[in-house]
Amino acid sequence: MADEGTEYSEVHRVLLTYIISVRYISHSELEPKFGTIVQKLNRELLNDKTLEDLLQEHITSINSKVSLHGFKIDKIRHQVSGQLHYVLINTVSNEVIKGNTNYSVNELDTIKRIIDELVESSSIDFSIGVVNATQKVSSGLNKTMKEAGSVITKFIDDGWFSLTFNDRLILSIRSLSELKRYLIDRYGIVSSQTDGKIFSCYQCNEINTLGLRCPMVYCQINFHYKCLDIYMRNETNKGRCPNYSNCSYHWPGSELSNIDPKRIGVDPNSLYN
Ligand SMILES: [Zn+2]
Ligand SMILES: [Zn+2]
Repeated sequence: MADEGTEYSEVHRVLLTYIISVRYISHSELEPKFGTIVQKLNRELLNDKTLEDLLQEHITSINSKVSLHGFKIDKIRHQVSGQLHYVLINTVSNEVIKGNTNYSVNELDTIKRIIDELVESSSIDFSIGVVNATQKVSSGLNKTMKEAGSVITKFIDDGWFSLTFNDRLILSIRSLSELKRYLIDRYGIVSSQTDGKIFSCYQCNEINTLGLRCPMVYCQINFHYKCLDIYMRNETNKGRCPNYSNCSYHWPGSELSNIDPKRIGVDPNSLYN
């Protein structure tokens, strides 16, 4: 038992089983769970390490093991709170949605159609009203509106979409992690050369469906809310748009700013978490 900390142990197995059962979880929820697992199975592990370090080490070893089977525990930050989340994702299938065996082909097509509508809407709010989505399910799967409503609930419970206070479906943190490749391949990144639909945050390079974009029509710079704070804290930027050789915009918080940036996605105050 002495070398348990360095080998793939019962702690790894139980942690992985737990993450498989929940599929995605915030760091603040996972850490105490992991603490309980360690306390029960091998509390000596905590003699010379913090729980945080131990958790990260375990995630790393689990990843090197499950990567052989095409899986990964991805780390992704919540776009508004910045809170770290872990998501178990499939890394092999190019079209993750297709490879998901919990759904019928028609259900998967319906999920895709909802995502199409949510991403391709002419506004950039990356959301779809729940009634509209329910109608899509109803017609796509030949179900009554009531039955279609249950399907939508299943999609939400399984973590494909989140629901806002205003009854709008948005891409969940699980979708943003698991479907990252799919979203970029299918819709393209917004840039001056292409007519892509997916924003990529200037600061963190992750997909941005909840944030702010430069209001200048020719400029594609965008940030998550917290990422803009980080950018603005850097004095040398002086609040200038990162694209300042081509763009005269000054972001809020700087002396010269007088136009509001455009919002990407739904109102962050309409989120449950
Ligand atoms: Zn960002
Ligand atoms: Zn700009």
